[in-house]
Amino acid sequence: MSLRKRKGIAVVVSGFSGTGKGTLMRELMARYDNYSLSVSMTTRAPRKGEEHGRDYFFVTDEEFEELIASGGLLEHAGYCGHYYGTPKAFVEEKLEEGLDVILEIETQGALQIKKRYPEALLLFVMPPSIEELKHRLVGRGTETEEVIRERILQARDEAQGIEYYDSVIINDDLDVCVKELHDVIEAAHLAPFRNMEFIEEIKEQLYRE
Ligand code: ADP
Ligand code: 5GP
Repeated sequence: MSLRKRKGIAVVVSGFSGTGKGTLMRELMARYDNYSLSVSMTTRAPRKGEEHGRDYFFVTDEEFEELIASGGLLEHAGYCGHYYGTPKAFVEEKLEEGLDVILEIETQGALQIKKRYPEALLLFVMPPSIEELKHRLVGRGTETEEVIRERILQARDEAQGIEYYDSVIINDDLDVCVKELHDVIEAAHLAPFRNMEFIEEIKEQLYRE
């Protein structure tokens, strides 16, 4: 029996709006049972089909600002005129249970998470091309032309932070991408810096010989 204990990793998944992050996360959760998805808080209005507590906690500016003030958020950022943030308690609880917690958040928030959890894994999901990205945004049919344009422009800023991520994964074929995401996360569990307790224990045993 191995002495290695599997610790939960805070896995940040970012990518331009319309890349397919939400779709990918749903598939990842359906196929594997070692993940827990963090539900963010936002001040933007729900899209058709979105549910409070499942897709987001939809709150007012006042409620959001209260939570910032009371230290209830792990990170927060402004995106296209709205607040988005990660409730702290859920993430801490799931990591403690040894689950990998997925935070589907944008780049400013991702860097705040990296500061707070240096062991976090930062993954950036890319569309195969910007043409395909526009096609997906239009095909989703949830935003006006104006909002789509705003999101494409926002992507320019987000593209500036990609070099701080650990991996870039392309969402071309959905099935392939889900498997790649899972494989990258599994490989991250093997990194020596995420296994220091085990390594120290083995070293101690060596010195007792
Ligand atoms: P995001 O959460 O990144 O904004 P969504 O998950 O809402 O993106 O996906 C945007 C649109 O693209 C949706 O209509 C979705 O069905 C579609 N989509 C997602 N992944 C793929 C893929 N691999 N190939 C084709 N269409 C995709
Ligand atoms: P959308 O409005 O399309 O659901 O999300 C817009 C952007 O906000 C996406 O890039 C998404 O990843 C990001 N986002 C969602 N939740 C959070 C969060 O809790 N914190 C941060 N920083 N970004 C988030």
